[in-house]
Parts: sequence; structure tokens; C-alpha cells
Amino acid sequence: MTVPPITLPANGRSAGPARDAAPDAAATANAILGRQRARESSARTYARSFPIVPARALGMTIEGTDGRRYLDCLSGAGTLALGHNHPVAMEAIRRTMDSGAPLHVLDLATPEKDDFTDALFATLPAKFADRARIHFCGPAGTDAVEAALKLMQTATGRRGTLAFTGAYHGMTAGALAATGNVSVRESVAGSASEVTRLPYPYSYRCPFGVGGERGAELSATYAERLLDDPSGGVVRPAAMILEAVQGEGGAVPAPDAWLREMRRITSERDIPLIVDEVQSGVGRTGAFWAVEHSGITPDAMVMSKAIGGGLPLAVIVYDQDYDGWLPGAHTGTFRGNTLAMATGAATLRYVTEQGLVERAATVGARMTARLEGLRPELPVIGDVRGRGLMIGVELVDPEGPLDSVGAHPVAPELADRVRSACLARGLIVELGGRFGSTVRLLPPLVITDEETEAVLDRLTDAIAEASKPGRRS
Ligand code: PMP
Repeated sequence: MTVPPITLPANGRSAGPARDAAPDAAATANAILGRQRARESSARTYARSFPIVPARALGMTIEGTDGRRYLDCLSGAGTLALGHNHPVAMEAIRRTMDSGAPLHVLDLATPEKDDFTDALFATLPAKFADRARIHFCGPAGTDAVEAALKLMQTATGRRGTLAFTGAYHGMTAGALAATGNVSVRESVAGSASEVTRLPYPYSYRCPFGVGGERGAELSATYAERLLDDPSGGVVRPAAMILEAVQGEGGAVPAPDAWLREMRRITSERDIPLIVDEVQSGVGRTGAFWAVEHSGITPDAMVMSKAIGGGLPLAVIVYDQDYDGWLPGAHTGTFRGNTLAMATGAATLRYVTEQGLVERAATVGARMTARLEGLRPELPVIGDVRGRGLMIGVELVDPEGPLDSVGAHPVAPELADRVRSACLARGLIVELGGRFGSTVRLLPPLVITDEETEAVLDRLTDAIAEASKPGRRS
């Protein structure tokens, strides 16, 4: 199917790659950026990598205050399934505002919440939906992760968590403990005390040094034997939490067979399995939920980002057997965002009705194949991977020694230069993965064929430019 393109109206400047801005507009943008640097915390993140000041946006295009335009392949870290300000989302917002519905209601029942729950449950695998309970959480993914961990601790009476290398689950204490990134954890002492880290099947940088199916098999064997080893040091945990496709970890998809193994291993040991679909959900991987590729039924799913249609919303959905917590066990003020529920319901339905799940699979496969085809000409591309429109291009130093799996060393400085070269060409891409060496592509599911070509052209050009011999800045 073809998705009708959404085009930002003309601004008097040409669309496409960024061009030099008018001097006064550029000065205003620089002044805003300067004040942000001076006043905001040193923990600010994306603002460091992308010194732009967005003023308008539509579909995949962001326009800065200086009139420069960018194709946005970050999409709010995977939030904007329909891109920016999609008419369906805007219409839901306007309709809800005009209706006089209260915009904030704690967790009271509203028609919008009821309708959102219907829309969400209709997307779930039937076996899961039939037994599902939903809990509305504070508006961020990390809060829903906390809720899921607490739910399972309450249900099992146990404490520990099994989590994976390369995982990202959020920044609050429990979610951070389950996250793999050492640099964000080491300054918060003791945060990982009850987490057992297991090896994620990351073929290109295989924790066992073998890669492929064999690497994934070893990862499963290791997990199983560790749990059964009376001297393995692991007290039976409250839950296992995993991403079916790691996002921040560098767009690393787990093999379906491995996921089925994790389901078997946890079921046989009565350990609840939580699948974090915060980034991989709502069609992004070419299935509505990434777990569907493997056919497993988790005990709980964590959802946020795209489910609110661009507005903050986070929930956990879980098997009713685990619904043993007390009233108020995971409460919070901002759990009744009427606008987000209405926009989310409209977005979920649009994704299904317009066949955007299938489109993500098709366009994703096309993009991945073309990127793969660049490897002979651009040897800095070490690995191209992903699922649907969750794509990673791992950059390497092709002069460096090969490891036992056939991978060259990571190239984080090159990746930085590629990100900057992309921005200069009017393309927003973020980095992730080990050492920030992977370029991550998370375009909206409504990306057109023309935009797909433009993204690939600009990225190819940026990689070629940034990897020219002698380029260091
Ligand atoms: N889980 C996953 C898989 C994520 O990708 C993220 C955010 N990138 C989170 C949890 C945390 O979500 P939030 O940033 O909304 O707290």
C-alpha cells in the first residue's frame, strides 16, 4: 500500500537538505541554544547532539526557527509512529479539547480511557488479551518498568530481577538497575544489587565469541544452567525483563528461537517474564508487538512511547493471575491524561487500519537490504541489523584487527562524525549501542518511498564523507 505523503507547507525556503540560514534567523537560533546551554542541566542529551531549534514539524520533517529542514529519523526516540503532528493525532486532540472533557482526572474512569483500553486490547495477541489486566502508570516508560517489577515482586514475594547485557529500561532506580549501560549506573552506588545480568544474544559482538545461532544457544544454556546451579549465587528472582529487539542497545533483535527458550526457561521455573515493548511496540518491528514474531505469550508487557500518539502515556498489561497488589500499590498523579488516551486510541487504530505494520516490515527490509549492499563500498559499515523500522548500522574501524566472530573494533568517533554529517545534510539520526558506535534509524511508520530514498542517500553520503581518510572532525 502507499501512504499518502504529508508535506510541511512551504516556508519560502527549499525543502530537502539543510541550507544556510538567513543571518538574523540563525542568530536567533544561536541565542536560544546559548541560553539553553547556560541554564539547563549538564545532563541534557539530545540537545547536545542536535544543535537545532525546532519551530514547526509535520510528518517526517522538522523545520528549525532558522527555516532549515530535517528528515527526522529519531521520531522522539521511536515515539512518533505517525511522525510529527499527523492529521489523525491532531484531529483527536482538537476533538477532545472541543468536547469539554476534563484533561486531568487522576485514574478516574472516562470514556476516553475506556475507548483507549478497547483500542489497545484489540492490538494484543488474543491469548494474552483474554486474560489481561491493565494498569495506567506515570507517563514515562521508566515508571511502567518500575510498576512491572513491583507487580511481580508483590505477586511472587521475591526480590531479584534477571536482566540482560545491552538492555535499556529507563532511568528511575529499579529500571536503571535493570539497564545495562555501565556509564549511567556507576555513579548511583548499589543500584544493581538485586539484578542478575545475563548475556543477550548479540551476534555481531557475541558474548561467547562465536555469534550466530550458536551464540544464541549458548546464551540460553548459560541462563538455564546459572539458574539451576545451587552454587550459582542467584536467588530465585521475581521476574525476568527483556526487550525482544534492544533499542538503545543498538537495534539488536533477539532470535525468535532464543525468545522461545527464555519463555520456556522462565515458565519451567515459575519466573514471570516481562517484555519491555516501550520502543519496539505499535508496529515498529513489522509486527504490532515485537513478541509476536516469536509467538510467545509473556506474563507482562510494558508499553509507552507510541501508544500515546506522541503524548505521554505508559501502561503495563499483564496476566490477571499476577494482579495481587493492594489498592494504591503503584499510584501517581499523572495517570489520567485524557488527551494522550484519545490521541493514542486514534493512533493505534490508524496503524492497524492503514496496514502500517506491514509497511514497516516492507520498508524496513528494503532499507536494511540497501544498507547491507553498501558494505563493500563502505567498509566502515561493520554490521547492518534490525527488524522493521528499528534499524542499526554499526560502524567499525576496518583497519583494526578482527575478533573471533569477524568483527572489527567499534568506531565511536566516526559515528559522531557521521551523526554530524547527517545533520549537515538535513537528516536527524541518533547513535546507540556499545560505545555509541551504532547509527540508529527509527523513522515514522508513515515514511514515504521518496523519504526513504532521501534518508538512505543522505546517510550514505554522510558515511562516505565522514570516513574519508584523514577526517578527524
Ligand atoms: N524501555 C525501553 C525499551 C526504552 O527504549 C525506553 C526509552 N528509550 C524506556 C524503557 C524508558 O522510557 P522513558 O524514557 O519514557 O522513561
